[in-house]
Amino acid sequence: MKPSIIVHGGAWSIPDDLVDGHVRGCESAADAGFKELLAGASAMDAVVEAVATMEDDATFDAGVGSVLNQSGKVELDAIVMDGGNLRSGAVAALQRIRNPVRVARAVMDCTQYSMLAGEGALEFASSKGFEKCAEEDLLVGRELEDYREFIRTGVLRTREHFSGKGDTVGACAVDVEGHVACATSTGGIPRKLAGRVGDSPLVGCGAYANDEVGAASATGWGEQIMAVVLSKTALDIRSGLQDSCAACRNAVEHLNKRVGGLGGLIMVDREGAVGYHHNTPRMAFAFIEGTTGRKAAAISV
Ligand code: ASP
Repeated sequence: MKPSIIVHGGAWSIPDDLVDGHVRGCESAADAGFKELLAGASAMDAVVEAVATMEDDATFDAGVGSVLNQSGKVELDAIVMDGGNLRSGAVAALQRIRNPVRVARAVMDCTQYSMLAGEGALEFASSKGFEKCAEEDLLVGRELEDYREFIRTGVLRTREHFSGKGDTVGACAVDVEGHVACATSTGGIPRKLAGRVGDSPLVGCGAYANDEVGAASATGWGEQIMAVVLSKTALDIRSGLQDSCAACRNAVEHLNKRVGGLGGLIMVDREGAVGYHHNTPRMAFAFIEGTTGRKAAAISV
């Protein structure tokens, strides 16, 4: 099987001056994951590398560069899911860790559980050798400024936010063995209430993978994505014989029609065909499709 990978770097009205950073960040992530796949690594290894690359890139709302909550803290959510055995690992409201996606992977690999949250997740991460960083190590000026504005104005972000801002990252891959996997990581919504957990670390919502169909990762307004279990819904539509692009489009249309949601989706199916769709003004993505040799890194409008 020829491997494929697709990544996203959020779906919102990405301003012109941030376009290059998003395209380059997505391209580097897809390259990092694809390099793993070509070396014979698993789809799981590839999506973790791709997402960790974007967590290290301050352009995105994941790892370094994440948004602040109403208490001025960064709380991170991440998930990985393996399409072979349907195992997943996730962390929610995790503080002071640079690469939550790697902790999510450790939850899957080293525990009998699927999700750890808050202090317990941090204790687990430390027990597995993940270094606790300072809160400031995750902060960038852009997000501090947004937080200061929140303190000044008290304005919350809700649906309108996604015509405003949403830089969650995700990746889906199929490996040479034909296994699929996905990963999603986020700092969540700016100005969220402390302890708020979005769709991103929830199985079927922010991500889903099943070797019988493919893998999907979502971004957008979390509460609405949860309401329609967006990633699983998209894969259910794909298994109803629509291609990956049509499945993503129909799932996003369903999100909008059913709950007025805004967001974006990426998918790779078990044949290695990639798809994406969004109903936000823009979405950052990159893919390398092994079977066709197609490759792209762009902002979809
Ligand atoms: N879905 C994420 C959340 O609601 C945010 C995003 O995708 O930008 O936490």
